[in-house]
Amino acid sequence: MEQQFESTGELERLHRVVVIGSGFGGLFAAKALKKAPVEVTLIDKTVQHLFQPLLYQVATGILSQGVISPPAREILNRQKNTKVLLGQVTGIDVESKIVTHHVGDYVTHTPYDSLIVSAGAGQSYFGHDEFEEFAPGLKSIDDALELRSRIYGAFEVAELLDDPEEVKKWLTFVVVGAGATGVEIAGQIRELADRALKRDFRKITPSAARVVLVDGGDQVLAAFGPNLGEKSKNALEKLGIEIMLGQMVTGMDVRSVELTDRDGHVQTIEAHCKVWAAGVAASPLAKMLADQTGAEVDRSGRISTNPDLTLPGHEEIFVIGDMASLNDYPGVAQVAMQGGKFAAKQIKRRLQGSADEPAFKYFDKGSMATISRFRAVTKMGKIEITGFIAWLMWLFVHIMYLVGFTKQITTLGHWAVAFVGRTRGERTVTAYQAMAIPDLLRARNIADIDMIYEPPTEHAPETTEKPRE
Ligand SMILES: Cc1cc2nc3c(=O)[nH]c(=O)nc-3n(C[C@H](O)[C@H](O)[C@H](O)COP(=O)(O)OP(=O)(O)OC[C@H]3O[C@@H](n4cnc5c(N)ncnc54)[C@H](O)[C@@H]3O)c2cc1C
Repeated sequence: MEQQFESTGELERLHRVVVIGSGFGGLFAAKALKKAPVEVTLIDKTVQHLFQPLLYQVATGILSQGVISPPAREILNRQKNTKVLLGQVTGIDVESKIVTHHVGDYVTHTPYDSLIVSAGAGQSYFGHDEFEEFAPGLKSIDDALELRSRIYGAFEVAELLDDPEEVKKWLTFVVVGAGATGVEIAGQIRELADRALKRDFRKITPSAARVVLVDGGDQVLAAFGPNLGEKSKNALEKLGIEIMLGQMVTGMDVRSVELTDRDGHVQTIEAHCKVWAAGVAASPLAKMLADQTGAEVDRSGRISTNPDLTLPGHEEIFVIGDMASLNDYPGVAQVAMQGGKFAAKQIKRRLQGSADEPAFKYFDKGSMATISRFRAVTKMGKIEITGFIAWLMWLFVHIMYLVGFTKQITTLGHWAVAFVGRTRGERTVTAYQAMAIPDLLRARNIADIDMIYEPPTEHAPETTEKPRE
């Protein structure tokens, strides 16, 4: 039976600000309210602050998940006017100004005077949600650990096999989406194969792995412009990554991916390990708010806001970050952080009786993406930088924005191990994560894994049978 709670706080007489999401937008909004005479309630379904730009390093065993996802309540533990609640927000009633959130059967209703919604975006499979099972995206720690299991697991399975054709299928990695995430993960899989795993196997040659980067568009890193896109493509090809542009993914199963080009030519790549790094879909909370306020949602499900990030007829509701659509601002961390600070400042101005700031303006500090160790691309306005200098800039910026001094030091250590050395410090794959390797273990739990063991009828050392269909 569902249990109902009314959340109450000692500071209830103060102006109540509810922040949904402890990502970049939500966390920066909450922090900017530190000294304000308000009661802040930060609600998130994970209560971590996830540093998404380094998720690909968790997926490829460079960093541990703890380094990039500190608990929000630890970050805010000195901020006395703020409490953090675990909960999946399932309802926002804009008339009665109440947010409803769940943890299992426990339901909590939290009232607000001002609301900041920063619930981000998930993966979009462009109407093919059935692909998700075969090609996980990279949006959460769960995704990164599942991918880690699939990537390392593919090398493990290949080592067991005798049939060279089967080995090839396990050593083919297809990354869909040639934006920053796709480029970074493809680059790291290539480095794994060529450097980190070089000496670890006896039967297979990891460097024989094939890494294919696929995109429906005409260029790699489209957001960086044609010049950097071309340079990045060349650098990736030099590393040994196959780039296939103008190709749409039209089919997928456990063992293969089907691509169709603009002329309708179809080809199939046999690959067990696929990664989806294309397309985003805004949090469903955007649609929920749009239905109640009359605001529009775009094709990615993002809600159109007023110029000051509020919703029509509801100046007390701010929507920021990846789930908001304003002036074609990109879905990047800086837009979310600056939006969070803007919303917090606006609330403070109102409490002081000052006039509202009429519009949020995003200040673009530039974009960057890594291609491999010691190689990155950076774009700051008209300035374009590539190579080692760009990589040093990338390193500095990412260390600077990681939350917590100990996490920064730990990360530098892991980077030294992976980039100067050749090992990966975080290769652990638990039994539960190993279940993400389709074909190898179709079992649903550990008990089933024991049950699928059948002793061979004849003694045949080191022969591995194909899985039963
Ligand atoms: C793999 C990857 C790499 C990236 N690399 C870069 C980069 O290099 N540079 C860059 O600028 N940007 C990068 N981005 C984009 C950047 O991370 C986002 O733009 C930014 O995180 C958006 O902030 P946000 O607050 O809108 O959403 P998020 O940071 O995603 O936070 C949303 C929060 O809301 C919570 N939430 C969602 N739904 C609910 C709900 N119903 N109830 C409660 N809580 C909920 C989530 O748990 C999450 O904590 C990357 C993104 C990804 C996925």
